[in-house]
Amino acid sequence: PLGLLGLTSGAIIFWLILTLARRGDTMGARIRRGLARGEFRVVYQPIVRLSDGACLGGEALVRWQQRDGTMISPDRFIPVAEAEGLIERLTDQIIEHVFADIGEFLAERPTVWIAINLSAPDVESDRVRGRLDRLRKTHGVAAGQIVLEATERTLIDARRAQSSMRSFRDAGYRLTIDDFGTGYSSLAYLATLPVDGLKLDKTFVDSIGSGTAADDVMGHILSLAATLGLDVAAEGIEHGAQADYLIARGVTYGQGWLFARAMEAETFGAYVDGRMAVAGPPSRRRRA
Ligand code: C2E
Ligand code: MG
Ligand code: MG
Ligand code: MG
Repeated sequence: PLGLLGLTSGAIIFWLILTLARRGDTMGARIRRGLARGEFRVVYQPIVRLSDGACLGGEALVRWQQRDGTMISPDRFIPVAEAEGLIERLTDQIIEHVFADIGEFLAERPTVWIAINLSAPDVESDRVRGRLDRLRKTHGVAAGQIVLEATERTLIDARRAQSSMRSFRDAGYRLTIDDFGTGYSSLAYLATLPVDGLKLDKTFVDSIGSGTAADDVMGHILSLAATLGLDVAAEGIEHGAQADYLIARGVTYGQGWLFARAMEAETFGAYVDGRMAVAGPPSRRRRA
């Protein structure tokens, strides 16, 4: 019986050590380490005017390349960072990257804007708000050049979403609802939000031409947006036929691999500079 006891306690100790070792390497712990080591960086995906491909802005997207070289998708680590209370620190670093990467570029081009994704804790975070205010002021970037993207889910989860968003709005930032159509917000709720635009989720773009219900729902979303005077962008456009359909339905902006993938800051700058010229009002272009 003594030998059995020894064996059992040995097994328990072994299991304990194994569990502790694994716990040290959960996604949360890796994110914490990644934050400390500066493993996160930002890439930029252009957003174009569908009618003519003009480009005055894009979206900042975080990338995480771990020390061993493996890339982890934000779809996997953002939810963990949110759950583990790390998202504010991460967003803080992302904002720092954005201004270090393209702050000067934006300051020199007052009509160019950049969209930054915010999670629910970020929307209410003094730290995030403070960082944004400080960095854009030191760089000489106008608040109107910063578009904050928040999902419907985020806006529901954030307890003080309405007042925080109003405060961002009052300071001149632009706000847009990301992944629109995948959340749960009622149209009545949407109408009360102080937003400038909405971004149709990729699932809608994927549904184009399929004759499914999502196709019809998109029509309703677009007429709602028109009624509320909101800018509409569509994400995840991969095919020309999708772009044609969206243009015909009156969607103004598009983002997707059809136009450009997410790219390094310098390439993004060159892309925007190459397509800014066509971005003037059509009447002026015609005269020129
Ligand atoms: P999102 O905000 O809806 O961003 C659009 C996602 O669609 C990006 O994925 C982008 O690379 C991808 N995409 C764009 N065009 C196409 C296309 O034509 N085809 C396909 N298949 N994909 C396309 P990404 O960068 O992997 O980001 C995924 C999600 O992770 C984002 O969705 C956003 O919710 C979150 N995320 C990314 N960066 C950040 C960030 O800096 N902060 C926060 N809080 N969330 C972020
Ligand atoms: Mg987004
Ligand atoms: Mg989106
Ligand atoms: Mg999306």
